[in-house]
Amino acid sequence: MLQASSRCVVCGRPGQLIFYKDETERYCQTCFDKLKSCSSCGRRIREGHQNPGDAALYCWKCWEQMRICAACGRHIWKWTSFGQDDEEVFCSTCVADLPRCAACGSPAARKAVLLPDDRHICHRCHQTATYRADKAQDDYDEVYKILIWRLGLNLKTIPKLSIVRQDELSRIAQDVPGATKLLGLYSPQSQGAIIYIIIGLPANLFREVAAHELGHAWLSENAPHIADKELTEGFSEWLAYKVGQCLGDSRNLQLMKEKNGDYGRGLRRMLDLEKQGGVAAVMRMFGATV
Ligand SMILES: [Zn+2]
Ligand SMILES: [Zn+2]
Ligand SMILES: [Zn+2]
Ligand SMILES: [Zn+2]
Ligand SMILES: [Zn+2]
Repeated sequence: MLQASSRCVVCGRPGQLIFYKDETERYCQTCFDKLKSCSSCGRRIREGHQNPGDAALYCWKCWEQMRICAACGRHIWKWTSFGQDDEEVFCSTCVADLPRCAACGSPAARKAVLLPDDRHICHRCHQTATYRADKAQDDYDEVYKILIWRLGLNLKTIPKLSIVRQDELSRIAQDVPGATKLLGLYSPQSQGAIIYIIIGLPANLFREVAAHELGHAWLSENAPHIADKELTEGFSEWLAYKVGQCLGDSRNLQLMKEKNGDYGRGLRRMLDLEKQGGVAAVMRMFGATV
């Protein structure tokens, strides 16, 4: 009697059988020659895994090691991630074709939210996004407290907060260069200053934008003579950075440091100053008595 294990696993015929690599299954020569190959590792396989509509066939070992595109669900070897972790990854097609989240830049896939101003917010950013005025006000107040406690940055008058759509802000800020891309704006007005911040920003970004605009409010009270944008944007961005540090928002901190133009250059200048003389050195540069 032949034992079951000495028969070809495909056709069931007994005879000279071949073991293949580390597999436990045995094949007769005829069936072995008909096996397909994994497109990735070349391993011979009876059945493979495929992305729908793709010619490529994968063995289960490769299939299991591949990542899954968070937008289209395809198994992929090469991916791009946009978060501070690799929790969500995207294939090149989705990166190229899908609209991007206005907050984090990742492809806006399933469960993304389309705001009334046509911005997309991905589902991860949506989880903490600020849509309601009362939540926005709480976060705004919290940011102001952080600025007082950490930096002694007191304001005589705290600007009123107004949450607006992005198209509204571009209209309000029509004289400002790059108005269509603004996230926030400090606007001095005869009846009292207003800080505008666009709706739908994830919590950390909202707080950093609030800190930045409160920086402009502080400058207008304490250093109105400084007009150099590298200094004013640099200082405001540095406040956003300090708040980001408190929040442990490492990804945005990195992005802020890498920015071009007055924002990034100014921030890097403030951080150098801070490295040499501490927070007080930066505050003193703008005339604060600390
Ligand atoms: Zn066989
Ligand atoms: Zn393989
Ligand atoms: Zn995809
Ligand atoms: Zn996002
Ligand atoms: Zn600014």
